[in-house]
Amino acid sequence: MIIQPKIRGFICTTAHPDGCAKHVQEQIDYVKSQGKIEGPKKVLVIGASTGYGLASRITATFGAGASTIGVFFEKPAGGPRTATAGWYNTAAFEKAAKEAGYYAKSLNGDAFSDEMKQKTIELIKKDFGQVDLVVYSLASPRRTHPKTGEAFSSVLKPIGSAFTNKTVDTNNGTVSAVTIEPANEEEIRQTVAVMGGEDWSMWIDALSEAGVLAQDATTIAYSYIGPALTYPVYREGTIGRAKDDLEATAHQLADKLKAGGGRAYVSVNKALVTQSSAAIPVVPLYISLLYKEMKERNLHEGCIEQMYRLFSERLYTGSEPATDEKGRIRVDDLEMKEEVQAAVEMLWEQVNTDNLLQLSDFESYRAEFLRLFGFGLEGVDYDKDVDPNVPIEGIE
Ligand code: NAD
Repeated sequence: MIIQPKIRGFICTTAHPDGCAKHVQEQIDYVKSQGKIEGPKKVLVIGASTGYGLASRITATFGAGASTIGVFFEKPAGGPRTATAGWYNTAAFEKAAKEAGYYAKSLNGDAFSDEMKQKTIELIKKDFGQVDLVVYSLASPRRTHPKTGEAFSSVLKPIGSAFTNKTVDTNNGTVSAVTIEPANEEEIRQTVAVMGGEDWSMWIDALSEAGVLAQDATTIAYSYIGPALTYPVYREGTIGRAKDDLEATAHQLADKLKAGGGRAYVSVNKALVTQSSAAIPVVPLYISLLYKEMKERNLHEGCIEQMYRLFSERLYTGSEPATDEKGRIRVDDLEMKEEVQAAVEMLWEQVNTDNLLQLSDFESYRAEFLRLFGFGLEGVDYDKDVDPNVPIEGIE
């Protein structure tokens, strides 16, 4: 099959196995070029196939020499369909991990379900005994509650009043005003149920009750704050309520784990192009401007640089990581630098369809978006006929 990108709205419905493998290899090479981390040894990553979760898994393996179990929801190739990017990423990651002598196994299915939690516990019992780090990096539009069966959907909406601001159509570079109507109470409740902390807490309780969580284990989940201009649609919107809940969960988990010397944190990460962030209105335009300013100042980071820094300079330094006034670890420090934010704010006022390419790094945004699906990577022959059926060796 000759695989080309097929963009529909803000997703790409195809993925390239060789390109995804190259993307993963670049992240592995980055971690290998950095110093070793005295870190975790047996790691569970929930949401391990793309974005921050994949970068966490690569950092744990190639930075700290850890054995990893990855949980995710991806699709293998079938008929005329390619597999999803996260499938190819995992196939490439596991192959590289095994070649380098590291244990890596994966479980594909709904992490919100009791069944997936049980399967994971069984695998940990069989192969690890216990895990000493649990990374919770799910991003999903939906969740079915494992006890009540209620199906929740998340929305990306402001709360209280409608929000109007600029946004970019990432397919054609048109900058226009978008108005997002406010969420109702029910939409807020459902978004918190999907992206808040309840499922993280259920995972930690299940692992702990099954005796597969080391007493002094660390657990971490990821959050975002961002600039004032995205507050109405992000931090003060429905997703922000979910993040408030996730952050409150970190405190509850920290209280539960501290007796055994365990730790629970939320890390506030940088805004990056991932499959999830592409879906948020306003944010892709902000990221395009942010990338330009951060690159000009030599401050730019991708998922892998962020996760390497989180592990090596925050979580595993030998002393407790510095946290902000709400107890959160911050690796969004470079994004939030005053001079970066002031420059982005200035550009935000000026940016329009005509000057988008001069004022922002929109081309990189688009290129990075395609790279998430394995397109546009150097050294990959996109005219080559490739087999879309790529097995993940360690899938259970
Ligand atoms: P992503 O879309 O790249 O990854 C999501 C992961 O979750 C994938 O591995 C996917 O397979 C898995 N997943 C989704 N639904 C699942 C299910 N039901 N069962 C099992 N696995 C499932 O997302 P990301 O951007 O890396 O986001 C991860 C976390 O980081 C989120 O909490 C997000 O809010 C946070 N974060 C993202 C950004 C950003 O700019 N992208 C910034 C800060 C924090």
